[in-house]
Amino acid sequence: MSQSNKNTVNRFAAASKRRRIDIKPDSTLEESDYPFRINFYLRPPPTDITLEEIENFALDRLQVLKIIETAKLRSKTDDIYKKDIQMALDRYLPMQSTHTSWTKQAGERRKDHISHFALRLAYCQSEESSDWFVQQECALFKFRYEQELEENKKRFLATVSLNWKVVDPQVKKQIQSHLERCICKNDNTSAALYVASETYYEVDFEKVPDLIQQRAAYVNKGKAYVPKANQLSLVLGEFKSRLSKMIQATAKSISRKLEEDRRLIPILANIEKQYDGRMYTNTLGSGGDLKAADVDMVVKQHAPLCMQTLHNALCQNKHLKHGGRMQYGLFLKAIGLPIKEALSFWQTAFTIKTEEQFQKEYAYNIRHNYGLEGKRVSYTAYSCSKIIKENSPSSGDYHGCPFRHFSQGNLEATLYKNKIPVNQVKELMNLVRGSHYQMACTKYFEITHPDHEKISIIEHPNTYYELSLGETDDCSDDLMSTG
Ligand code: SF4
Repeated sequence: MSQSNKNTVNRFAAASKRRRIDIKPDSTLEESDYPFRINFYLRPPPTDITLEEIENFALDRLQVLKIIETAKLRSKTDDIYKKDIQMALDRYLPMQSTHTSWTKQAGERRKDHISHFALRLAYCQSEESSDWFVQQECALFKFRYEQELEENKKRFLATVSLNWKVVDPQVKKQIQSHLERCICKNDNTSAALYVASETYYEVDFEKVPDLIQQRAAYVNKGKAYVPKANQLSLVLGEFKSRLSKMIQATAKSISRKLEEDRRLIPILANIEKQYDGRMYTNTLGSGGDLKAADVDMVVKQHAPLCMQTLHNALCQNKHLKHGGRMQYGLFLKAIGLPIKEALSFWQTAFTIKTEEQFQKEYAYNIRHNYGLEGKRVSYTAYSCSKIIKENSPSSGDYHGCPFRHFSQGNLEATLYKNKIPVNQVKELMNLVRGSHYQMACTKYFEITHPDHEKISIIEHPNTYYELSLGETDDCSDDLMSTG
């Protein structure tokens, strides 16, 4: 059996220990309830749902989302990525072709719908889990959308009021040269012809970050001008922005919902417990085998700029303030530094402190982060969005995101020091000036890992680390055992 197949079987075997319930054909549903196999999930499921269905369907969908995440990180080719996802869908969330009986299709579409809403309830309560959920749901939607027939896509888009403004021919003429520069054509003549004959949409630029990153859309005054050929990016942007808003709304109303039906509390808690995906916890520090002595090497080779900055400051100053210790300490914990090694690492680094001072002032906090003191909560590593948005560094602090918090001069100097070529420094600085900090970090990864396959936007320092490590250390067995 090939390694890839063996991994897939392992995942499925682990998941199958749970008693799963069958999808029942549903004759109560009308075709108008689920006219398409793709769904923006704008309305709650229309039928009665049992508690058993909520839990089981959600756990099945979670398997799919975890496999998608792992496939994104680990699949060496697009074909393997798609094969992995299709196998997961066939097993956990099958969606028959439109030629099978309606009642069977209705049962499957209902399960898809319920499972999405149940996970939305379970993962709306923390920014990290909701970010993770939105990211994987977007990948799932993209996969399904690409499989759908053109005719069905067209009918589907007509039902979801997309509100894209078609660019007026006069306006198009005025910005023609900018649009041409965003076309991948070798000669100006073909680019000019292409722009003249293509339909363009004007949308809010936040909706198409990937196109902006690839310089495939012209941006002016907060609007992006997108050719119809890039419709998939537009649809995905819509899906993502609507889902993000809906999950925020769910987060606001969740306590009231749970008060109304307290039976949901243990079910959602159980679903949440199954999630150990991108929370990067390393519970009680028992899950890793990184040695304190190896931290310097792995951080220099594989950590993102934010963690390298903290590491360098720690080596230079023999100390880090609280914000830096939290950001860096939780990152190290999540990459596998067990508590014993963490205490040794920090004590060795803080050479300006006596052993007594270290024990008194710092050891408690380190143990606290590992869930061994106080409330005994094992804290998760910070995501990019948390680092970028919260607790900006003050003078003498080194935490935060260099792309967000460094002055332009300091960031440029750091990039040159790290041997980034001039034209690419300019590109990175343009992204930073446009407030695309995570895109800049993703670009930085691509520049410093030229042989790595294309990656999606960096959302977490630990994802950066894992992606970088994946180049040199093939630990696919560990990562693929997501059951
Ligand atoms: S984008 Fe995220 S991973 Fe990259 S430097 Fe900023 S905080 Fe670190």
